[in-house]
Amino acid sequence: MRIDLHTHSSVSDGTDDPRTLVRKAAEAGLDVVALTDHDTAEGWSEATAVAAEVGITLVRGMEISTRLGAAGVHLLAYLPDPTYAPLAAALDKILDGRNSRVPAICAKLGELGFEITAADVRRGAAAAAATGRPHVADVMIAAGMVATRDEAFERFLNPGRPAYVNRYAVPLAEAIALVSASGGVGVIAHPWGRGRSRVLSEDTLADLRDQGLVGLEVDHQDHSPEARDALRAIARNLDLVVTGSSDHHGTGKIDHELGCNTTAPEEYERLLDLAAQAAAASGRPAPGVFA
Ligand code: AMP
Ligand code: ZN
Ligand code: FE
Ligand code: FE
Repeated sequence: MRIDLHTHSSVSDGTDDPRTLVRKAAEAGLDVVALTDHDTAEGWSEATAVAAEVGITLVRGMEISTRLGAAGVHLLAYLPDPTYAPLAAALDKILDGRNSRVPAICAKLGELGFEITAADVRRGAAAAAATGRPHVADVMIAAGMVATRDEAFERFLNPGRPAYVNRYAVPLAEAIALVSASGGVGVIAHPWGRGRSRVLSEDTLADLRDQGLVGLEVDHQDHSPEARDALRAIARNLDLVVTGSSDHHGTGKIDHELGCNTTAPEEYERLLDLAAQAAAASGRPAPGVFA
């Protein structure tokens, strides 16, 4: 069984629409794929419709923008109920922050001499419920200002670069609680990617586990072999589920091909069991996987 639990479609900052993404996942030989767009469940119904046709199991998920102190942390939520009002309200607030940030980034780029409007970005991100910096990068590429999304982030859009603008993210512990109360489970995405090892220490992860966190995404392209070994040991100590995934973004991110990292079947089964328990405890209907 080949299981990839983290992918993005054009509903957020991936480049394939949900149907195409699921089709490509089946073609790549995956048996299970999770659609985890940033902060939205918009792509679920399209993805579900095609999963049956191509014979792949679809896990409904999303990657929620959270913060721990000043640090941004991504929380993968599996099988949450997005109609649970407190979760829906938190996601709306994040999406509002994403939308209002776009004109602010454009204004900063304008000061640097680049004429890009929020309308240009909106047009390019036509299918996206969640707009992000990658959509700004795509307009910059089209205008010939940069060659790749990577270059746009490194020169302009990353924290500390001249067109960076912060946005709202839900406090991590609150996001974990919302996901659990909605009947789903939370797994921290790329916990030690991009310098986060200083923030997410074993002690902090132990506290988060006590607050309902169920797993860590250990096998991810942002982690060195040493980081993976250390995170695997922490997961074992804390009895957290270990996942692995591609974080595929279509052509939007290099070196993140579908299935480049995978989740062990026994870890996947544990995740589903924990989600079923969360759904039972919440009294909410579990959206379930679509096989
Ligand atoms: P935002 O959602 O606006 O905060 O933008 C962050 C997202 O952009 C991340 O979740 C990644 O998917 C993507 N991203 C971050 N850095 C890069 C990069 N160097 N190249 C391409 N995509 C990136
Ligand atoms: Zn992304
Ligand atoms: Fe992420
Ligand atoms: Fe991601």
